[in-house]
Amino acid sequence: MTDQKRLFGTNGIRGLVNKELTPATAIRIGSAIGTFFNRGELLVGLDARTSSPMFARAVVSGLTATGCNVLFAGMAPTPALQFAVNKHRRAGGVIITASHNPPEYNGIKVIWRDGVEISHEQEVKIEEIYFVEEARYADWNKLGDVQDLPEVIGEYVESIKAHVNVPRIALRHYSVVVDAANSVAGLAAPSLLRDLGCRVTTINANIDGTFPGRPPEPRPENLDKTALMVKAVDADLGVAFDGDADRSVFIDEQGEIRAGDETFALVTKHFLEENKGEKIITPISSSTMVEDIVKAYGGKLVWTKVGSVTVSQTMKKLKAKLGGEENGGIFYGPLHPVRDGTMATALMLEIMSKTKQRLSALLSELPKYFIEKGKVECPEELKQKVLQSLVRQLKNAKKSTIDGVKIWFDDKSAILIRPSGTEPIYRLYAEAKTREKALKLINEYSSKLKTTIHTLN
Ligand code: MG
Repeated sequence: MTDQKRLFGTNGIRGLVNKELTPATAIRIGSAIGTFFNRGELLVGLDARTSSPMFARAVVSGLTATGCNVLFAGMAPTPALQFAVNKHRRAGGVIITASHNPPEYNGIKVIWRDGVEISHEQEVKIEEIYFVEEARYADWNKLGDVQDLPEVIGEYVESIKAHVNVPRIALRHYSVVVDAANSVAGLAAPSLLRDLGCRVTTINANIDGTFPGRPPEPRPENLDKTALMVKAVDADLGVAFDGDADRSVFIDEQGEIRAGDETFALVTKHFLEENKGEKIITPISSSTMVEDIVKAYGGKLVWTKVGSVTVSQTMKKLKAKLGGEENGGIFYGPLHPVRDGTMATALMLEIMSKTKQRLSALLSELPKYFIEKGKVECPEELKQKVLQSLVRQLKNAKKSTIDGVKIWFDDKSAILIRPSGTEPIYRLYAEAKTREKALKLINEYSSKLKTTIHTLN
């Protein structure tokens, strides 16, 4: 298997509809997945994209051709489908989604029987079947069948409720604004919130695969209307999901869009208060704020490479109960070790009701860091050499090379320099106790990086 022959990227298979990813390819991928699972029973679900029904039918054809039986769950949040695979003890699952990508993209995620996306090694096996070995088709009388699996979302919402104090939240009569990104979040979050006694105001809640409300990535620049809505209806909380509802970004009652690092640090603090000494899993791109909280509340921090599958796989391996990412991914192990925006929403209300404090006040108690970002162009073929050279130059620094190189300084500032997995650039993430220092680090290391690239070119 050579490097060029890859189907899977950092988050499953992704591509431009009918250009990079066609129904014909999807049938072949379905057959490769079916061969990998070897006649098991697989759950299939999809997000709200215009192309998702087309790809779902193609993948189902490929799966049943290899003798796999399909339980068709229809449109649902990715974590709801992952939860159902695990709960109903199926062999695995396939989800048609391109998560936060623009509407012209789609993708395929493969789920293992425990509800977690398959490991890198398992992806390689499917790629070998696809590129080298070819699928094993079943005889005409051993084809798989397709049955509907309704009620996936209802079960999922009920299971989330079992992890929070419903009467205590309901007593507060919270007002919550839900921005569903015109996708599957609107199928679960509003009904959960109503069950939690909240008054719900929705925005971008109609299902529309063209994403007319906003792009499906919940970046601050896409959420100005949502933040205004929080202010306009005087809500206690706003939550904005990505396209498949595994990530959620929160807006406080003052209409401030809060960083994923902050909300994850808040969840970590309250989790460690009740679960002393537990391991907290987070990618190296997370803020030192998370580390400060983990230390202060007696937990053990485990850094990983960037990527949600790595966080999930590490949680499984270490039997850890909480993980999180700076992009708004929260993994609550007691429900399942996968990122889950709806579960995260329930946790925020749990914390607000337990402390009887407003979100802005809760977040103001966290350590404060200023975060700045930068990028430097670097030809693909130089990326590894540049990284090795940088690491040599930083011999005496306190650093980690889990993913790119991260350096920590004595004044609590830090910088991560990491080659992008998808573009010919290096990304820089700096944080410090003052904005000036964070900017200074970006400038200093951007020039260091440029000099290194120039020397090696
Ligand atoms: Mg997503």
